[in-house]
Amino acid sequence: MSDTTPQQGIATRAIHAGQAPDPTTGAIMPPIYQTSTYVQPELGRHLGYEYARVQNPTREALEGNLAGLEGGAHGIAFSSGLAAIEAVIKTLETGDHVVSEENTYGGTTRMFTRVLARLGIDFTFVDSRDPRQVREAFRPETRLLHLETPTNPMMRLCDLTAMAEIAHEHDALVMVDNTFATPYNQRPLEFGADIVVHSTTKYLNGHSDVIGGALVLDDDDLADRIHFVRKSTGAVPGPMDAWLVLRGTKTLHVRMRAHNENGMAVARFLEEHPASQTVHYPGLPSHPQHELATSQMSGFTGMVSVELGSGERAKHFVDRTRLFALAESLGGVESLIGVPAIMTHASVAPDRRDAMGVTDGLVRLSVGIEDIDDLLEDLGQALEGLPD
Ligand SMILES: *Cc1c(COP(=O)(O)O)cnc(C)c1O
Repeated sequence: MSDTTPQQGIATRAIHAGQAPDPTTGAIMPPIYQTSTYVQPELGRHLGYEYARVQNPTREALEGNLAGLEGGAHGIAFSSGLAAIEAVIKTLETGDHVVSEENTYGGTTRMFTRVLARLGIDFTFVDSRDPRQVREAFRPETRLLHLETPTNPMMRLCDLTAMAEIAHEHDALVMVDNTFATPYNQRPLEFGADIVVHSTTKYLNGHSDVIGGALVLDDDDLADRIHFVRKSTGAVPGPMDAWLVLRGTKTLHVRMRAHNENGMAVARFLEEHPASQTVHYPGLPSHPQHELATSQMSGFTGMVSVELGSGERAKHFVDRTRLFALAESLGGVESLIGVPAIMTHASVAPDRRDAMGVTDGLVRLSVGIEDIDDLLEDLGQALEGLPD
């Protein structure tokens, strides 16, 4: 599908993978095929396109690009990140079992426990920092290990190579949510994962104007089964959204360099600031899994969490930033700030939140690509006069 090779650099792949000039006009950008159906020249013969839930050339251009970025054979785009994850679960049967990291994106946990569990899929949640816990959770009917690394918002990592080994010993597949890291910083397929999932809403699109998702994988048979689920259930992205994500991925490498640089600078600034108790950022030597981080990631993104000690202190901080906007989501060029316990993780039970470290005093930052001096100045002034 992609016309680049895995040997080519990621910048070349970001710009060229899956892209070819439009055959009729030579348009260098893939046209937005805003159409629901395709005219067939005669009964029983079509041009490879019948109905847009099943095929759309703009979507295919995006899929080739994402496959090239992650280094996989197949890209499959969805209407959202959650729809992409759900499609994988829908290849399973009633009675099948899934082992999942416990500190995933809140919406993933909610879908697993409150929607898919009702349909007879069983889920066990584990701390995937500990391979022994993961191994012990496997049962004869376990079909899938779902991971997220780094996790949201605690920036916990799992050892991708060790996880793939455990799952494959049990004939189960490994799916890795790579939304936080992005293929610029981490490519799970290279460590043995079977499926990479993205909320393209975040860094891949990068401009906070689309909801989208995607899977990238190598196995042809599994890709067929997922395509079947998608066409049978319908969670496809529209052509305009596919085109916008594609416009975003072409600058992924440039944006991620800037996010990585600013993220590191903000993490250092917060770690040195007297108001902070702990800063969670895999790029800091103080991160308990820093060594693992440097072995499977090449950069650490703009996602930083900081523990300020109380809900009052967190509120003081996030209410006073001017450049950092108070909002959910992440991965856009503009900086965002939020309190996970009250915002993204409000649907997680308070005792589980506490167990994971998602306290009322934890603030999460999605550091954008503005000038770093302005960002640090903003954070500094917002931390002034913090209550005790
Ligand atoms: C946002 C997000 C999702 C869900 O994606 P949507 O596009 O909002 O459906 C899944 N995983 C992670 C890590 C996310 O940040």
